Amino acid sequence: MRFSSLAIAISAALALHAQAATIYPLDRATILAGSKFDVKVEYDGQVNADDVQITVNGQPLQDALAGSYEFVESEDGQPVSSVWLRDASIKDAGEYTIEVKEGDKTSSVSWEVYANPEAPKVKNVIFFLGDGMSVANRTGARILSKGVAEGKANGKLAMDQMPYMAMIGTSSQDTIAADSANTMSAYMTGHKSAVNALGVYLSRSEDNLNHPRHETIGEMVRRIPGMKFGIVSDAEIEDATPAAVVAHTRRRADKDKIVGMIYNTQPDVVLGGGSAYFLPQSTPGSKRKDDINYVEKFQNQGYTVVTNNSELTSLPQDTTKLLGLFHTGNMDGIYDRAFAENDVTKNFPDQPDLTTMTQTALDILSKDNDEGFFLMVESALIDKASHPLDWERSFMNTIMLDKSVEIAQKFAEEHPDTMIIVTADHTHGIGIVGTVDDDKEGEMRDKVGTYNEAGYPNYTDENGDGYPDKLDVSKRLAVFYNNFPDHYETYRPKLDGTFVPAIKDENGNYIANEQYKDVEGAQLRIGNLPHNASTGVHAVDDVILTAQGPGAEAFHGYMENSDAFKVMADALSLSSRLQDEPTQRPDDAVDFSPENTAK
Ligand SMILES: [Zn+2]
Repeated sequence: MRFSSLAIAISAALALHAQAATIYPLDRATILAGSKFDVKVEYDGQVNADDVQITVNGQPLQDALAGSYEFVESEDGQPVSSVWLRDASIKDAGEYTIEVKEGDKTSSVSWEVYANPEAPKVKNVIFFLGDGMSVANRTGARILSKGVAEGKANGKLAMDQMPYMAMIGTSSQDTIAADSANTMSAYMTGHKSAVNALGVYLSRSEDNLNHPRHETIGEMVRRIPGMKFGIVSDAEIEDATPAAVVAHTRRRADKDKIVGMIYNTQPDVVLGGGSAYFLPQSTPGSKRKDDINYVEKFQNQGYTVVTNNSELTSLPQDTTKLLGLFHTGNMDGIYDRAFAENDVTKNFPDQPDLTTMTQTALDILSKDNDEGFFLMVESALIDKASHPLDWERSFMNTIMLDKSVEIAQKFAEEHPDTMIIVTADHTHGIGIVGTVDDDKEGEMRDKVGTYNEAGYPNYTDENGDGYPDKLDVSKRLAVFYNNFPDHYETYRPKLDGTFVPAIKDENGNYIANEQYKDVEGAQLRIGNLPHNASTGVHAVDDVILTAQGPGAEAFHGYMENSDAFKVMADALSLSSRLQDEPTQRPDDAVDFSPENTAK
């Protein structure tokens, strides 16, 4: 009886407080004191400016929060009104309740605003992101790199030797299954975002660039005098993961604009692929739709510009700002660059390794630097190989990431006031189940050994470089993805180039790529994803984060990806160091404000 009367009371209360509006930042947002963010209130219908009643802990919005107020009577020509408070910030830590009243309807959200401890625990944070790195990647990289025998690993990866660990949830504002944009954005801002979105909450705005923004760690570093930051990736540097360090857009595909956002924040080091978006449309191969030459713009700001490994490894001594663009698109992975005898890298034969880019970035960022730095390093092709079910390339790029982590750990030995984080943005549905043994009788699937039939693979590393001497050994790992389009399972590494499991038919459906049909023993596997899926997809499984350095003990148990930002902010004491305005912004910064970009 008591329960049912309580239920009635609750539903009566809910009816009384029917939703009047949607409020951004969302309920349960955690916000760094002093960081900038946009407040947006979206009414379900049209309201009069005079009838707007928005309070923060009982005080009118404009009195309670700094920021620029804007009332939009009819948003995007629709019969709905919105209120913005752009570039808002809150100085004092505490619980903040935002209440919107419209007639007898009330909406409210609560935010937790936190300040960092006054004294920084570290000078530097190095953040490694293995894109799509799943547990199987860590296990597989360890087996291929170090070996395993009699039940024990023959050695540990660098990332295995970090003392702190957490399970990280990756879901986004709008969906359980995330992409690299919103997940990396959560790490870099402390706020969740939506699939394909960077540095914004997804609202109902039509304009990609007019969604409620939250400040990124790159922008925050720019508000700390003397502090530096760098972005390193073997993807296009304007791809989702590196973009998340600075960018705000609802669409990660806005790559031409993202280059402008990178330019506006002037990272001290920018190394990666993606030069096609830096060059004006008149340049052959350019992917820009305007005449801006960003290579020239960076040069005019004093950047040393390099385009291959030879230039990267013979930089002028006085280099303090560096732009390296080594490919028009994504760079090539370690296997095709260093081990395969194929022609994958023929157009870009002199690309640097992620380890070289990491070492160079550390050298430049740490030189004559009392205020510290933030460095993001991404091994992007872990993911870009896992999508087409090419686990060998994915594992090889995981080893390369680990070797870059090792470089950072050597730096941290010399500079103990450094936090290192190694994590992923999301996982793939991948698992190691045993071995494939060519010497076994029968069809290819009968050569798969499980349990006691698996034994150990026979990879070797004669030269001790940490990579297997070859991938097509006679007894190799059996690794399978649990989601896929139609494809031919060959049970063999693809030595000539990354696997292309499926191709589009005339109806737009993805079907198995016949190119692999005649590989000896290949087996047709009917997909378990919708017919429009060209490759495997991301998994919702948690990612593993490992960390070391002062303050890293805060990583433990289950955490949201957005919580990891707080650990970095605490360690660097960001809230106590933020100035009001950026300490360096180019005179010709590109204007991405909504007034300027609106159609
Ligand atoms: Zn992906």
